[in-house]
Amino acid sequence: MDSHKKLIYLDNNSTTPTDPRVVETMLPYFFEIPGNAASRNHPFGWQAEEAVEYAREQISSLIDVDPKEIIFTSGATESDNLAIKGVFEMYASKGNHIITLTTEHKAVLDACKRVEKMGGEVTYLSVQHDGLVDLAELEKAITDKTIMISVMWANNETGVIQPMKEIGDICKKHGILFMSDATQAVGKIQVHPKEVGVHLMAFTSHKMYGPKGVGALFVNRKNPRVKVTAQMDGGGHERGMRSGTLNVPGIVGFGKAAEIAKAEMGKDAERLSKLRDKLEKAFQDNLEEVYINGNVHHRMPHVTNISFKHVEGEGLMMTFNQNIAVSSGSACTSASLEPSYVLVALGLGDDLAHSSIRFSLGRFTTEEDVDEAIRMVSEGVNHMRDLSPIWEMYKDGVDLSMVEWSEH
Ligand SMILES: *Cc1c(COP(=O)(O)O)cnc(C)c1O
Repeated sequence: MDSHKKLIYLDNNSTTPTDPRVVETMLPYFFEIPGNAASRNHPFGWQAEEAVEYAREQISSLIDVDPKEIIFTSGATESDNLAIKGVFEMYASKGNHIITLTTEHKAVLDACKRVEKMGGEVTYLSVQHDGLVDLAELEKAITDKTIMISVMWANNETGVIQPMKEIGDICKKHGILFMSDATQAVGKIQVHPKEVGVHLMAFTSHKMYGPKGVGALFVNRKNPRVKVTAQMDGGGHERGMRSGTLNVPGIVGFGKAAEIAKAEMGKDAERLSKLRDKLEKAFQDNLEEVYINGNVHHRMPHVTNISFKHVEGEGLMMTFNQNIAVSSGSACTSASLEPSYVLVALGLGDDLAHSSIRFSLGRFTTEEDVDEAIRMVSEGVNHMRDLSPIWEMYKDGVDLSMVEWSEH
């Protein structure tokens, strides 16, 4: 491998680089302005508080809500936990049932599992082959004990965007709270929770070119006035919903990231969707047996999840991961390589799930990066297939569904 080669980062759904303009805005808040935003009795504290409130305005302006409706947290994992467990506890007298999807992020699924341990009931709805929720099924799952539906805005693995307005209407009709993990959508596409009837919404700075370790939970304040039980006991910061000294530099950076996103996400999305389409078309033109996973009409502009059939994704990645960073549809658990539960939920067989690669482009991705990825990944797929007895069998017309697979 040529070590001088530029590393190409196409894994922006895992985390985004911090925009240099964001870093610059944060710097004074480490040393020159070191105050604790909760220190009410001297200028250091006032300056920090002012900076935090300015960031709160920048962020609320991006998602078109009132600044008072933003609760700062350490990231989307914490926001998901606060929303789900916090609503479960706060609304215990109304019911104990939550509905979510099997394709949600682990932060939502595991918070729901915790709720089950605390005596709650959770329905994990499957999705259709294209990754979209079946609205009729969703409505059918509602009982008189249902207090909340939690559906992510856009999926992290496939980029599929759920019908938020339709789900919001169902929630409204039944008087149920609507929570959304919008981590992958905020700052990339227009996300206005109030417009679609979302009452609680989790998102994070480091997926939108801000620093890591800071996130937010939007909590609707009027019609209805939503409350969550704090999951952290302490000084009562953030209107009592999240105690702990605020990460002032992080919040300042998050605010700047939101301001930049509001100004630039339109043109970023337009440019990146063209590059994403170029990538997909090149693979489909250059290679056989290429499948795009998830609904291609309702998805994020910068993401594609592609299965290269009969090629093992982890192995494929190994052919280029010194130069190009992507994600595969398999996760290494302790004992074995598990196919992604999200792709399995879309009904992909183990083979297609294991052969999938997620490409997520970002603000700093160039056309040259994409061209290089097309070249190296195509080469890798051809190389793997040349060595593969399964590919040879497929080319010879063997019905591979009849082949007995051994345990991996
Ligand atoms: C990254 C991600 C999270 C977790 O966010 P952190 O800020 O890293 O805790 C939650 N949900 C989704 C959909 C994500 O993509």
